[in-house]
Amino acid sequence: MIGGGVIGCAVAERLSFEGHQVTLFERDQLGGRASGAAAGELSPHGTTSAAEESAKKSLQLFPELIARIEKDSAMNVEYRVQAGLQPAFNQEEAARLRAFGGRWLDAQACRQVEPSLTTDVLGAVLLEHANLTPPRFVLALARAAAARGAAILEGTPVMGFERMGDEIKGVITPAGSHDADWAVIAAGPWSREVASTAGADVDVRPQRGQLAALDPGAVVLRHSIFWASGYLVPKADGTIIAGGTEEESRFDDRPTVAGIASLLSLACRLVPDLGAANLQRVWAGLRPVTGDGLPIVEALGARNLIVATGHHRKGILLAPLAAMQVAAIIGAA
Ligand SMILES: Cc1cc2nc3c(=O)[nH]c(=O)nc-3n(C[C@H](O)[C@H](O)[C@H](O)COP(=O)(O)OP(=O)(O)OC[C@H]3O[C@@H](n4cnc5c(N)ncnc54)[C@H](O)[C@@H]3O)c2cc1C
Repeated sequence: MIGGGVIGCAVAERLSFEGHQVTLFERDQLGGRASGAAAGELSPHGTTSAAEESAKKSLQLFPELIARIEKDSAMNVEYRVQAGLQPAFNQEEAARLRAFGGRWLDAQACRQVEPSLTTDVLGAVLLEHANLTPPRFVLALARAAAARGAAILEGTPVMGFERMGDEIKGVITPAGSHDADWAVIAAGPWSREVASTAGADVDVRPQRGQLAALDPGAVVLRHSIFWASGYLVPKADGTIIAGGTEEESRFDDRPTVAGIASLLSLACRLVPDLGAANLQRVWAGLRPVTGDGLPIVEALGARNLIVATGHHRKGILLAPLAAMQVAAIIGAA
């Protein structure tokens, strides 16, 4: 496994669970990039119908996966099922959301279930949804894999591959060469660079997303709230996360004044009392996004080389499905 983000760790956990001998190479530290930066929303909505179907399938894999990794890792990943609300501010938005499915709440019902939501909304749709704490999830996946025999090597970049004809024979790190029957590249937006050393072209690039953590003081939010340009997520530790911008920034993952200002203004629009909240911290991460916006999980560039990347805004949600897809490719060979 190349990459210790959520995709690499989920695949390592799945393959170890199925009895494979796994070594995971992470250049820096586990969950140190987008996977540790993410908000932890497990929301299958808001994509095309094919993508929504995959996302719903992956969401259903969570209860069993969480139970297994929490047992194997002795960690708590703060997974909780919690309905989300997507409000409409005008008739056009309301018509679109009502066609979308889910339970429609009128303005009065919205205020009953979520009293702090702005009174400007005409109504909201109640969404199937869950969330967890991504850095804990990534670490628990890695520890669960390790508990089943996987070697997890942080601070170990993969620099290239040993290759013979159409087969990868091993991966090259600064410590030397490691034999491998299969190599799986899950290096997020760096997957293009890693795959190019095996002669494969992977159409993936970085897209910056910024987040802000708010200490809400007396404001209580019972649901995650989604809107076209962002969301508010109440976390198990009492903070509220405001997210997430979408920007072309190459590999620059520093938050900007304009990005954070847009998140804070959205937070105040959705929940006006958050104007008095304290700003706890701001950060950003780089989502891996492909040319057509769809994830890539397939053998590419060599018979036994698999690329698993491009999960864009839903990599945490889609990780269990990606792990099963990689295991299926290996199992079918
Ligand atoms: C602000 C923000 C909020 C988000 N919120 C959500 C959310 O709420 N829900 C959701 O489902 N998704 C969310 N996402 C998307 C999700 O975080 C990503 O889709 C997912 O983390 C991608 O995981 P990954 O493992 O592919 O990539 P990464 O997390 O980038 O991991 C790739 C890893 O590969 C390592 N690597 C790179 N090169 C090498 C090399 N040569 N050798 C070894 N290792 C290497 C890197 O160091 C890195 O750790 C969010 C993303 C952002 C930025």
